[in-house]
Amino acid sequence: MKKSKRLLLIILLVSDLSLASFFSSAQNGIHEPISQPEWTREYKPFRIVGNLYYVGTYDLACYLITTSNGNILINTGLAASVPMIKSNIEALGFNFSDIKILLATHAHFDHVAGMAQIKKMTGAKMMINENDAAVLADGGMSDYVFGGKEKTFEPVVANRTLHDHDTVTLGEMQIVVLNHPGHTKGANSFLFDVKDEHRSYRVLIANMPTILSATKLSGMPTYPDVGKNYAKTFESLKKLKFDIWLSSHASQFALHEKHKPGDPYKPEAFVDQKGYDAAIDNLQKDYEKRLNGQ
Ligand SMILES: [Zn+2]
Repeated sequence: MKKSKRLLLIILLVSDLSLASFFSSAQNGIHEPISQPEWTREYKPFRIVGNLYYVGTYDLACYLITTSNGNILINTGLAASVPMIKSNIEALGFNFSDIKILLATHAHFDHVAGMAQIKKMTGAKMMINENDAAVLADGGMSDYVFGGKEKTFEPVVANRTLHDHDTVTLGEMQIVVLNHPGHTKGANSFLFDVKDEHRSYRVLIANMPTILSATKLSGMPTYPDVGKNYAKTFESLKKLKFDIWLSSHASQFALHEKHKPGDPYKPEAFVDQKGYDAAIDNLQKDYEKRLNGQ
């Protein structure tokens, strides 16, 4: 074996890359930086509450909101998971082609890598926060942590850019978009009401303000205000009132403790203000520790 080849092999083995995703996506110049088995593991879709359904993978949450005028999909998981998301939606009795609006909690590959494909398949309109629009349009090249070298997902030019407190409307659904910057510049949470046969629920899909290990809270070259933005986001998240709490990763809101595949309809399983408060509190402690340490 030549020295250079051996070196490449060692680099691949010791780095935190999924070799499968490296080789499958390297052909089109797109490289998902990491992947974890739970991100692409199959998961049985289910009705969370009213017209809101879980259609994601074991850990990468994707949400379908149905309306009388077509459906909304929030987040996609990795590009390879698009067929799984499609079959999850169909297993619940809905048409994939009825997706009219695509939304994302933030423009990282693990939540938007399937957007380009789904947009092409359905003709849906992509809507993204104004501060993540550039990252979405350049496939992650301008992301303040993952950017610079290679695209991490297939680029999408948004049809509409969203601003803090904008409302996305489809049919009878009204979704309020809250900008919670830090994790990305345009990270969003979504707040909306859904109804079932018994009552109405206020739902929060929160973009939890986790901090990537490469983030310097004192300021990143292309995001000097990152630390300040995290502080604002914590303040906003702590004030929110809701009944049901969900987020971008199943693990963030303990989906697998609250619901087992095949369980009957039980929205109360996701009423968890205590869990939410504790999770935000933990993230804020991590934030303060990192801030003081840097
Ligand atoms: Zn992320």
